[in-house]
Amino acid sequence: MKYNVIVVGAGPAGLSAAMEIKRKGLSVLVLDKGAIVSSIQNFPPSMIFFSTSDLLEIACVPFIASSPHPTRADAVNYYARVAKSGGIEFKGNSKVLSVNPNSNGANSYSVEIKNEITSEVNFVSAENVIISTGFYDNPNMLGVRGETLPNISHYYNEPGRHIGQRVAIIGGKNSAVEAALDLYRHGVDVVLLHRGEALGKSVKYWILPDVENRIKNKEIAAYFNSRVLEIHGDEVLADVKGKTETIKCNFVYALTGYHPDVNFLREVGVEVDQHTGVPKHDPKTYESNVPGIYIAGSIVAGYDCNKIFIENGREHGKAIAESLVR
Ligand code: NAP
Repeated sequence: MKYNVIVVGAGPAGLSAAMEIKRKGLSVLVLDKGAIVSSIQNFPPSMIFFSTSDLLEIACVPFIASSPHPTRADAVNYYARVAKSGGIEFKGNSKVLSVNPNSNGANSYSVEIKNEITSEVNFVSAENVIISTGFYDNPNMLGVRGETLPNISHYYNEPGRHIGQRVAIIGGKNSAVEAALDLYRHGVDVVLLHRGEALGKSVKYWILPDVENRIKNKEIAAYFNSRVLEIHGDEVLADVKGKTETIKCNFVYALTGYHPDVNFLREVGVEVDQHTGVPKHDPKTYESNVPGIYIAGSIVAGYDCNKIFIENGREHGKAIAESLVR
């Protein structure tokens, strides 16, 4: 089966691109190693978007939610409905292993896919490939001893399992602050460790005063200017302003951000800046240095995951679709 376009990654940017391309009359297949918008599905159930619903819309399909800032569930429902009603051909549980030029001389790519359930490997062809794999699969590691222990995670989900526990959270931006407040509000004893001297300026404006007041009232313990040295089964050792502190805790969330899989891009032949992680591309069309290979969504910004959000990443698909039909 040969498509005009294969989109790798079924997040909002990938779906937006697929919708725009389909509307141009081109054939398109969307592949994802998980489900549609699986990153959003992995956010905490109580998460509320910073962006208002109109700014999360793709392909001009209205996103009606009961409040201006939609919930995680609203967003998952919305993107799933858009993909279904838009007739997007989607293959889930399909991990793309490689993208190589077809050897038969045709101007197209062979995309090697592994079914994540059966481990079966198949090949699909496309004239163009859009890589929109986001960053959420690759957490920024602390690089300290104990980071792979079972009592540490880079993804926060629900507070229930921590009732009666003391939980340490590492990080000082949205994920860390939201997790700290959620745990605190469910009666969990929370301690926040942040390497900076204050919480990040990008923390949502309605959340920042809340967490700052919890810290001021000592309802959430906080260590600023702290650097985690080691993690053990029941404690974290941290350098706090030059002094080693032992912080007792049952579980650790290292919410230290995420980064794109630049190795995959390089394997496909896309040049990636060593320092910024930005893939080489035309800023007007999002075509990479490899003709017919495009990039979309947050990976366009490389390691700076606070630059491209759903609200600007959704625009990439329009530019790519225009470029494909030109
Ligand atoms: P982030 O914005 O990248 O923040 C990571 C935090 O971890 C920063 O405070 C950073 O410190 C710290 N950090 C990074 N590496 C570290 C290390 N090696 N040691 C110690 N600390 C380290 O990550 P995020 O909060 O997970 O957010 C990721 C993306 O998701 C962002 O685009 C964010 O806006 C989005 N998000 C949205 C929502 C929402 O809309 N509701 C919720 C959560 C996340 P510095 O501050 O010193 O850099």
